[in-house]
Amino acid sequence: MTASVHLPAYDRSALRPGIVHIGLGNFHRAHMAVYLDDLFALGVAQDWAILGAGVREGDARMRDALKAQDCLSTVIELDPAGITCRRIGAMLDFLPVEPGNASLIAAMADPGIRIVSLTVTEGGYFINAATGAFDPDAPEIRADAAAPDQPGTAFGAILAALRARRAAGIAPFTVMSCDNLPGNGHVTRAAVAGLARLIDPALADWVETHVAFPNGMVDRITPATGPRERAMAAEFGLDDPVPVTCEPFRQWVLEDYFPAGRPPLEQVGVTFTPHVHAYELMKLRILNGGHAIIAYPGGLMDIEYVHEAMAHPLISALLDKVEREEIIPYVPPVPETDIAAYYDLIRSRFSNPEVADTERRLCLDGSNRQPKFIVPSVRDALAAGRGARGLALVSAIWCRYCAGTSDSGTLIAPNDPNWDALQALARAARSDPQVWLGQRQIYGELADHPGFAADFAHWLFSLWAQGTETTLRSYLAESA
Ligand code: NAD
Repeated sequence: MTASVHLPAYDRSALRPGIVHIGLGNFHRAHMAVYLDDLFALGVAQDWAILGAGVREGDARMRDALKAQDCLSTVIELDPAGITCRRIGAMLDFLPVEPGNASLIAAMADPGIRIVSLTVTEGGYFINAATGAFDPDAPEIRADAAAPDQPGTAFGAILAALRARRAAGIAPFTVMSCDNLPGNGHVTRAAVAGLARLIDPALADWVETHVAFPNGMVDRITPATGPRERAMAAEFGLDDPVPVTCEPFRQWVLEDYFPAGRPPLEQVGVTFTPHVHAYELMKLRILNGGHAIIAYPGGLMDIEYVHEAMAHPLISALLDKVEREEIIPYVPPVPETDIAAYYDLIRSRFSNPEVADTERRLCLDGSNRQPKFIVPSVRDALAAGRGARGLALVSAIWCRYCAGTSDSGTLIAPNDPNWDALQALARAARSDPQVWLGQRQIYGELADHPGFAADFAHWLFSLWAQGTETTLRSYLAESA
């Protein structure tokens, strides 16, 4: 007998659209759509349903799949105590995916739409890696500036809709990023206003003055969908080509900056606070930093899954020692949050065997992640005068991984957009560790810190000479 599937506990025909969401991937369907589904089930805010949208060709496949099932999304919550399945009904329609995005622009220009939200990935915001600022020279941005009525990017489409609203005397919608970027509201504002500035400086000034871009912190581990996930849906009797699986935990912290109104999401567990930055910093340092700590030793020891890494006593102890001695002490207080309890929760989330998140996914893109998730903790620990011996080891393990072979000699396939350059440096660093720290875009002035450089060199030599296990054992034997 198949287990039961929970269906929307409200009349979907009574819903009215209030939100256009661009980037209908897995995360949105496991996060924002679930919060709204919970809200509609309370019988409130039913004029805040979602219209899905995408600006990339690949989104047409998701549209076809979802339209064929009345825009219902299957969300399977991977709770080790019991796996549950629900069909989320918060989305009413999926707009056509087409060159020039006319349907999307028309939908966003409608006065009923008061929020445009986004999950277009961290790489979707046209940020220049060297400066960290919006890149007005990105080819897709240049193309939208040259043809603002036929935009190809999400920001071009948003701007075209804002222009139409302004011309018609309709107040602007709020633009809400749900991507995993520090200061995601600021980053989105920089992209929309930055593109506007290339088209019409007065329009850019108007955007900066009149359009709201709240910052937010989002959290829920949501793996990609493959055969395993489709088979799980089948076990619930669903023939769904695009089901979503996710951990049971979810969190959403938002600035209350919605001049055009918003659904009362606080009724379903969303935190509204002016202190989003504090939550975000805690998450980036403890959760994302924690992922970076357990990823690379697992990679070097040929461990496939995250929960297997957590079950390895040396990796688990490495995480504990580095978090407790060198990360958590420098995380500023967060309202209504016990940081030690937050870390305990993260440990249990990482250990969930049902999620089946891979070490390789966590190892991806270290050159973008280390500067956000690890290096700031190094700086804080050094500034406090306590040293950063564990974080130096974490950095050395990443360097050793980028050399491209595990301890067993197994080849590691390229796993970073800058893989070739990283691999060359990692191999040179085997005899001259300073070569690695010389990557100023990652380590900045830390390359010149004698204590950190000495610790890094010590651990890198040890990793090459004795392997990961022995090196971890010697670190763990050191007293705090
Ligand atoms: P996904 O691959 O399922 O979906 C990505 C979506 O973004 C697709 O609709 C795709 O078309 C769109 N997209 C990609 N690049 C784009 C671009 N340049 N312009 C416009 N659209 C673009 O991925 P996902 O799991 O839904 O994750 C999306 C984002 O959500 C992440 O990058 C992250 O910022 C955030 N997030 C994800 C998780 C997670 O565990 N998956 C957790 C927290 C936050």
